[in-house]
Amino acid sequence: MTARVLSGKEFAAKFKEDAAKRARALEAKYGVTPGLAVIIVGEDPASQVYVRNKDRACAELGIYSEVIRMAADTTKDALLAKIDELNYDKRIHGILVQLPLPEGLHAEEKAILDRIDPAKDVDGFHPVNVGKLSLGEPALVPCTPSGCLKMLELAGIPIDGQRAVIVGRSNIVGKPMAQLLLAKNATVTICHSHTKHLAEVTREADILVAAVGKPKFITADMVKSGATVIDVGINRIAPKKLVGDVDFEAVSEVAGAITPVPGGVGLLTVAMLMENVVTAAELQLAEK
Ligand code: NDP
Repeated sequence: MTARVLSGKEFAAKFKEDAAKRARALEAKYGVTPGLAVIIVGEDPASQVYVRNKDRACAELGIYSEVIRMAADTTKDALLAKIDELNYDKRIHGILVQLPLPEGLHAEEKAILDRIDPAKDVDGFHPVNVGKLSLGEPALVPCTPSGCLKMLELAGIPIDGQRAVIVGRSNIVGKPMAQLLLAKNATVTICHSHTKHLAEVTREADILVAAVGKPKFITADMVKSGATVIDVGINRIAPKKLVGDVDFEAVSEVAGAITPVPGGVGLLTVAMLMENVVTAAELQLAEK
């Protein structure tokens, strides 16, 4: 069998189209343009590229965008004061602090992220949003797992009643992915570095999500014939060579559907951020 390849490009375009349509509906109903503020502290080159991509996506979709650049030696208090200002700014519906923060602020990361008004927390990292997700209440959900779920749904992959196995239990991918699949009535198992007989568990999966951070970690013998395999991993193995957590060539011969790396899940994240900004604006405007 050669698996159906789920192209991130195709799905990202659909997600962006949805977000743009919903943004236009808000303009028509309330006369308000959804707005995103991205704070970047310091000069990390990769972060500069990510922030530029987010700014461009906003421009493309008709979302108001502000990039706030702060020096690498910015103090915690100055950063918190900027977040407070944005929390009260009516033009801004979503706030994102680009990670990683410079070394001097590492220890303060949680306090800084927790200062963002949960209603504007478009990364979905705030404990209020994490709690709401686990309670099954409407919440802002981390972009990567929500993109994976939406892709599965749009691709017509059955979820209800299916066995889903997630390898990785991080707060930004593994755990929210599990909550989202559980909410759609999958039977969910989360694996991690202490899981025994991992291949036996992954072979039970109808939907297998790899979020490990180890190149080609999921091999063909770990996958059930016909399973859907979602590869969240992004591993740089040479200056210009990215691979996922899944051995794409070998697993493609066993799986029913698979996401490539590059060109898969990575492309969904910015598109889902745009959706989260529009969702945040919808919720804030509906509450007025
Ligand atoms: P973390 O490092 O936070 O988590 C990795 C998880 O993998 C941990 O739960 C760890 O277990 C588990 N793990 C490690 N080794 C093993 C093993 N031998 N067997 C089973 N489980 C293992 O990573 P993230 O969740 O942040 O990211 C995962 C990958 O996804 C990375 O490659 C990252 O770059 C990528 N990523 C991609 C995004 C995108 O936009 N596509 C967005 C975010 C991440 P334990 O908890 O026990 O340590």
